[in-house]
Amino acid sequence: MHRIVIVAIDGPAGAGKSTTARRVATALGFLYLDTGAMYRAVALSFLRSGTPFDDAGAAPVLSSLRLSVRTADDGQHVFLGEEDVTGSLRSPEVSEAASRVSALASVRAFLVEEQRRIAAAQTMRGSGVVMEGRDIGTVVFPGAELKIFLTADPSERARRRAAEYAERGESSDTDAIASEMRERDRRDSDRAVAPLRPADDAVLLDTTSLSFEEQVEHIVDLARRRAS
Ligand code: C5P
Repeated sequence: MHRIVIVAIDGPAGAGKSTTARRVATALGFLYLDTGAMYRAVALSFLRSGTPFDDAGAAPVLSSLRLSVRTADDGQHVFLGEEDVTGSLRSPEVSEAASRVSALASVRAFLVEEQRRIAAAQTMRGSGVVMEGRDIGTVVFPGAELKIFLTADPSERARRRAAEYAERGESSDTDAIASEMRERDRRDSDRAVAPLRPADDAVLLDTTSLSFEEQVEHIVDLARRRAS
């Protein structure tokens, strides 16, 4: 590869962004950054301190937040201070809270700056980044060399999320997952700050009938072409 590249992968909940982005990053030798986990960690801080989900409440949470993201062999870990909170981020309660705090302008400004800082440190080391979220191609890196907007049918997205729960040994109700995802997508798409939408120059990839390997291969091919 000739150039350092930022690959932005955005899309609604359950479109397969995390698994795809992680595998693409491994194939390219890039850093993988799951920005949703950062919103989830901020949400966990709000929940733990019983803070209301508004900008006034956000000020003390953000000023005392010690958020860091570290990469280990088993993937990305998120820390609050010295505590690894990765295992506490996927509960329905945190999902709901993340969806609410992510609509706050102060939270977004804080995390966007952090995401750009992490990417800058990585590119200084001469490596690219695969960053996954809702606003990476539109706000965080509007100049990203490759932007992918990943979608899939809502029923397929709910089915995949239920399969993830099953893999972790947790029971779930596919209809409840579908309605929770609908609500989160609605909030993400309707919010005033950084709403979920594809960047004008994003490649739209509907994964409903693609295999996981096909999606990964397609994105890796595009990234290699953009980088040469
Ligand atoms: O991707 P994930 O489902 O873990 O993200 C949790 C929540 O964080 C999403 O529902 C969305 O509201 C928010 N989010 C966001 N912008 C990002 C990443 C996540 O608003 N870049």
